[in-house]
Amino acid sequence: MNTIIDRYNKINSFINEQGKKDLVNVIAISKTFTFDYIKPLIDHGHKHFGENKVQEALLKWRVFKKNNASIKLHMVGKLQSNKAKKAVELFDFIHSLDNEKLAISLSDAEQKLSKNLKYFIQVNTGLEKQKSGISSASLNEFYNYCVREKKLDVIGLMSIPPNDGNSDMHFKTLAELNSSLSLRDISMGMSNDYKNALNHGSTFLRIGSSIFGKRSKE
Ligand SMILES: *Cc1c(COP(=O)(O)O)cnc(C)c1O
Repeated sequence: MNTIIDRYNKINSFINEQGKKDLVNVIAISKTFTFDYIKPLIDHGHKHFGENKVQEALLKWRVFKKNNASIKLHMVGKLQSNKAKKAVELFDFIHSLDNEKLAISLSDAEQKLSKNLKYFIQVNTGLEKQKSGISSASLNEFYNYCVREKKLDVIGLMSIPPNDGNSDMHFKTLAELNSSLSLRDISMGMSNDYKNALNHGSTFLRIGSSIFGKRSKE
C-alpha cells in the first residue's frame, strides 16, 4: 500500500514544482479498486475521489461518506438519467453532464433532495462516435439551458481526448471553450496526459492508474 502513497506524493510534488499547488485538485479515480486501496489515501489526508459507475460507488462509499462529510465524491463516467437521483444523493461533483434529458433529471433530483452539486459539461472535442459529450458547436446553447433554465451550478468543462497522442490540441480547444464561457474550472488530464493538461490550465486532474496501479477490469 505504500506504493500508492508514494505514487500519489510524486504527482503532488510535480504539481508543487509547477507552482500550482493551490490551483489544482487531484481526483483519485478509485473505480474497480476496493476500499482497502482507498483507505490509506484517506488516512494520508486526501479528500477528492472519483468513480464511474453509480452502483459501484454506492456500495463502496455510501456509508463511509455519511460519516465523513469532508470527502468529496466525483462522478466521472456516463450517467443515465434514470440514475440521476441516486447520483445526486451520493456525489458532490458530476463531470459527465452532456444532454438535456439528464439535465432535467438532475435538476428534479436536486429539488427533491434539497441538494446542489457542482457540474462539468462534458465536451466531445475529438468528435468520436463512441464517446460521450456534446459537440463544441452545441455547447453555448446547452450551457445556457443548464444554467438559466435548469439552475445547475456548472463550474467548468470536461473532456476525455482521443488516445492518439494529440491531447495537447484537445486540451487547448477545451481551455478556449472554457474561457469563452468565463468558466473557472476545467476537468482534464488523466494518468498518461496530466502534465499536458496542467500546461493548459486544468484545475481538476482525474488520475486513476498512476495512483492505484493497473486496473484488472473496467
Ligand atoms: C478511469 C477514468 C479516469 C482515470 O484514468 P487513468 O488513465 O487510470 O488515470 C479519468 N477519467 C475518466 C472519465 C475515467 O473513466
